[in-house]
Amino acid sequence: MTTVAAYAAPTPKAPLERTTIERRAVGEHDVLIDIKFAGICHSDIHQAHDGWRPGIFPMVPGHEIAGVVSEVGPGVTTFAVGDRVGVGCMVDSCGECANCKDGMEQYCTDGGPVWTYNATGKDGLPTHGGYSEKIVVRQDFVVRIPDALPLDVAAPLLCAGITTYSPLKHWNAGPGKKVAVVGLGGLGHMGVKIAHALGAEVTVLSQSLRKKDDGLRLGADHYYATADEETFGKLAGTFDIILNTVSAGLDFSAYVSLLRRDGAMVNVGLPEESVHLDLKALNGRRRVMTSSNIGGIAETQEMLDFCAEHGLGAEIEVIPADRINEAFERVEAGDVRFRVVIDTATI
Ligand code: NAP
Ligand code: ZN
Repeated sequence: MTTVAAYAAPTPKAPLERTTIERRAVGEHDVLIDIKFAGICHSDIHQAHDGWRPGIFPMVPGHEIAGVVSEVGPGVTTFAVGDRVGVGCMVDSCGECANCKDGMEQYCTDGGPVWTYNATGKDGLPTHGGYSEKIVVRQDFVVRIPDALPLDVAAPLLCAGITTYSPLKHWNAGPGKKVAVVGLGGLGHMGVKIAHALGAEVTVLSQSLRKKDDGLRLGADHYYATADEETFGKLAGTFDIILNTVSAGLDFSAYVSLLRRDGAMVNVGLPEESVHLDLKALNGRRRVMTSSNIGGIAETQEMLDFCAEHGLGAEIEVIPADRINEAFERVEAGDVRFRVVIDTATI
């Protein structure tokens, strides 16, 4: 066991505080990672606020982890001390079910994967995330960060990158396809970059035109404000794919009406409340309403390699750890362009 410094929410909705946690001893197939940067995802806030389900407290959030390997177990074959690596939302899974065997560990049917935090590990102890100095992870759940990607801009790819890459690939975003990205936040800005790099024609649907210059610079071809009612009339029946990254509920029936025949609205945003959809909005053009949860480990590596090849990192603001609570408030207020990343050396 190693004692490491971390930031934890002691109880739901309480401010995060500096504390210490225990990391397990490095096992045969484990990698010890010195965490260098950890992104702040809106999911961290939903969970620290107990917005989705009752959580496990004290909670150390953080599932956008970038760091350097500092020790490996005797059975580790794929990583060595000094390697630049990342860890995302999962740290283990059964490895036996059909979904795990298909490389989609995020859909593990044996009780789900072991989430990086706010979960119980295979040792029966609570897992703790990336707002900490070090983490011990089974090698199969560690990915390699290509040299072309600095660790700070790579950290958010471990969630925001894979969560947008996976459905964009699954629904065939590419040349000739019109993709709308709803919400230009942490996920949304990566969705724009990745959809553009895949060759799709990209439209941002943001609440206002406040971030229009940034959106176009990131690779969007068009940018509309959803507060403008004309937007929905103008764009009706247009898109092959709508990637919804909004952390709150929306008028889903209105957004679905923007899809063309057989178009798909993929919801990766996970609002805390359940949502309403008028099925007649789907029915008229055989539209698809669906969702997607992060991506598998092999696909996460593929995404990192794709991002390195295309020069895609996240647009970040690096903060010291004592500003995490302020950053949570700023994310909730929509006052971040586009991801806050914690410099974990400051913990
Ligand atoms: P974020 O940085 O806060 O971005 C969310 C964006 O949604 C905001 O920038 C804003 O964009 C828009 N928005 C916020 N409130 C809104 C409202 N009331 N009405 C309309 N638009 C609103 O959050 P994030 O880190 O990207 O995460 C987004 C969501 O995805 C969260 O719910 C998170 O839990 C979820 N998530 C899901 C997965 C998955 O695997 N499915 C993975 C990671 C995160 P504009 O200002 O441009 O309108
Ligand atoms: Zn996330």
